[in-house]
Amino acid sequence: MIEPSCHVRINWEHFRHNVVTLMNRGHDLMPVIKADAYGHGVTDAARVLERTGIKWAAAGTLQEAALVRDTGFSGNIVSLLSRVPGDEDVRLACEKQLTPLIHNREGLLASRDAVRRLHREKPLTIAVKVDTGMGRLGFPLEHMEKVAEFLAATPELTPLVQISHLAVADDPAESEYTLHQCDIFYRAADILHRNFPDMRCSLGNTAGLLEGVTAEDDICRPGLALYGYDPLYGTTHEGLSGPLLPVMEVSAPIISVHPLHNGESLGYGRTYKAETERLVGWVAMGYADGYRRNPAPGTCMCIKGVRVPVIGRVAMQMTCVDLTDLPEPPAPGDLAYILGGPGNAVSAQELAEWWGTIPYEVTCLLGKNKTK
Ligand SMILES: *Cc1c(COP(=O)(O)O)cnc(C)c1O
Repeated sequence: MIEPSCHVRINWEHFRHNVVTLMNRGHDLMPVIKADAYGHGVTDAARVLERTGIKWAAAGTLQEAALVRDTGFSGNIVSLLSRVPGDEDVRLACEKQLTPLIHNREGLLASRDAVRRLHREKPLTIAVKVDTGMGRLGFPLEHMEKVAEFLAATPELTPLVQISHLAVADDPAESEYTLHQCDIFYRAADILHRNFPDMRCSLGNTAGLLEGVTAEDDICRPGLALYGYDPLYGTTHEGLSGPLLPVMEVSAPIISVHPLHNGESLGYGRTYKAETERLVGWVAMGYADGYRRNPAPGTCMCIKGVRVPVIGRVAMQMTCVDLTDLPEPPAPGDLAYILGGPGNAVSAQELAEWWGTIPYEVTCLLGKNKTK
């Protein structure tokens, strides 16, 4: 891999702080570290969770779950993105004690048959996904009697936890829908609990945890808040989480600093024209590094703790900023912070607004520039 020009720094102490902040709300937690921990690095995240005494973790693919186990994480590991399991998947899951998410009939049958073929003595633990209104993965409530019957007759599989996912918990105006999802979820759980009284339930995402919509013994599955961001940002319920600390920081060197004289233009398409004398800088970060090509007007980077506006068109590996108003002009080699950093730092929430997206996508994208 060619080393990226930008630098991604992950503050694991902040991550730990956020985990503890959420733990203090009283629920057992299954931190969601799928998609390489939202771009932050799944193995490092798993090590922090282990040291913090966390007993559950949710990875994406089964392969990612195996990586989590290989770090020495001792709790239960659910893989949220299970395909219909083949023999190799089930072998991996059994060997590493992983818990695949089973969300349809095909998954139930295939995992049972694979456990039989592999002559495993111990059953495979599974997470049973119920579709309570996301319309994505899971058994509908009306199939749960059948699922319970099947599992009761299938010693090869043990349902460890029932899972569902909330669609609009981050929107207080939609609380009725969220409560409806909760209702369906616990009705489904009542059915499985007849045969499996020890099975746990896991419904709340970050927003569900903060809003307190789930049962007391719900194992909540926060993702976003672990990385320092509030899914209720911009709503009337913003801040319920208490202080969260941003975990990812992205910087890139300024590689050119020069004046742009009155009347001169800059970059592809000549979209910026100086109307007074300006001082501009080119930062070694472009759309090839996951920086959006068409950010909204008002998009900033941060240099020496002060914000500077992005101007002109973002190029493949470079972006221009207007340095004119900086109290102290930087020199080539100084750093521009795309995300986080000292001073008046740009948050993933702001960057998301400028990019027309959500902070989840910002960290997933920028995190791909991590080097080990
Ligand atoms: C990603 C994900 C979560 C975490 O959601 P946040 O909004 O980041 O808290 C929880 N559960 C499932 C099934 C997910 O896919």
